[in-house]
Amino acid sequence: MKLIIDETRCKGCNLCTTVCPYSIFTEGKKLNERGIVVPVLDRPQRCTNCRLRNLYNRQLCGVCQLICPDQAISWVEETEGLTEKVVIEY
Ligand code: SF4
Ligand code: SF4
Repeated sequence: MKLIIDETRCKGCNLCTTVCPYSIFTEGKKLNERGIVVPVLDRPQRCTNCRLRNLYNRQLCGVCQLICPDQAISWVEETEGLTEKVVIEY
């Protein structure tokens, strides 16, 4: 699974940057074509939800998705063969 932010929905409120226990969301710096500064994902493969949800067959954290007022955060299936090696951080 891969975490994505839908730039057409995000309003740049940065609520997601405050709740993620892994600091995967960081404040963006550039305005997009809608004049919104969308957060940047810092190594989203560190997300427990991405890494382990298939194994447990359920959502594990998902706090970012729950708090997003615009339903801009979701996960998509990754193309086979693109998985990256993950170093677990404590
Ligand atoms: S919480 Fe949702 S709308 Fe707000 S910055 Fe994050 S992705 Fe965008
Ligand atoms: S699901 Fe949890 S760990 Fe993953 S990006 Fe969202 S808040 Fe962070």
